[in-house]
Amino acid sequence: MVLLDGIATSAQIRKEIAAAVADLKAAGKKIPHLAAVLVGDNGASLTYVGAKVKACEDVGFRSTLIQKKADITEKELLEVVYDLNRNAEIDGYILQLPFPKHIDDQKILLAVDPAKDVDGFHPENVGRMALNLPCFLPATPAGILELIKRYEVKTEGKNCVVIGRSHIVGLPMSILMQRNDYPGNCTVTLTHSKTKDLRAICADADIIIAAIGKPGYVTADMVKDGAVVIDVGITRIPDPSKKSGFRISGDVKFDEVAPRCSFITPVPGGVGPMTIASLLLNTLSAVKNKA
Ligand code: NAP
Repeated sequence: MVLLDGIATSAQIRKEIAAAVADLKAAGKKIPHLAAVLVGDNGASLTYVGAKVKACEDVGFRSTLIQKKADITEKELLEVVYDLNRNAEIDGYILQLPFPKHIDDQKILLAVDPAKDVDGFHPENVGRMALNLPCFLPATPAGILELIKRYEVKTEGKNCVVIGRSHIVGLPMSILMQRNDYPGNCTVTLTHSKTKDLRAICADADIIIAAIGKPGYVTADMVKDGAVVIDVGITRIPDPSKKSGFRISGDVKFDEVAPRCSFITPVPGGVGPMTIASLLLNTLSAVKNKA
């Protein structure tokens, strides 16, 4: 069994990005600049955005955090987006979702300039992804592809079962794994909460990608010998023995599933760190696309 190590791989990617930034600086070219828009003071969102901003600083990018009060109107938030679209200093930006209930996330997302949509959520980028045209891929699926590539996991002709169909993970993952490309060329089954007999479907899978949000949902009896298992799940479980008061659990019962696998991602330390690395790669390519 080989552990798909997201910490080591993302550290390597950050090193490569930092070297690319140093080259840009030496050539007197523009340094990538990522902006993040955060509405309200939700603790988890603040943590995620903070980690992204810090990651930018670590590789030498510029970063700007735009924080707005929870009672901002939809119109005012649209103005923030239009300003970012016009601002030539900003190469790419992310909207930390979800926004408060009185704001229509989709309406704001549609206003984003697809050329600055480094989260890859704009329908134009989703459509281009489906057609295998150059585009920004959503960060978590892109991070999974990068892990697969760097560990040279074979995907052609394999049965791939994706569990979960969210717009940010499961659905794009299913599209990417069936593309005529590497990684890809899988026969993909996209499953969700209405799927019947998920156990039997998984038992026939060469590759399982679990993005459900239910701790320990994928058990050893669902996984065939030699399978590749990618665990996207991140759930905080209260744990008084930890300083933070919680521990992180994935969707896969790692201890019993890992011995059956050819490759598996741990949680934490698998897909999670790859997500931010992909966002940085997208921002770097936003600058290169302009050149
Ligand atoms: P989500 O929007 O809540 O979607 C969950 C999906 O799982 C839905 O499609 C749901 O089906 C499906 N599902 C729920 N119960 C199921 C069951 N019993 N059998 C089969 N499918 C079932 O979640 P998400 O945003 O994709 O996130 C999934 C997990 O990944 C969460 O733990 C999240 O924290 C984590 N995550 C991690 C990263 C990272 O960087 N590692 C990034 C994003 C998300 P329906 O569509 O029928 O409801």
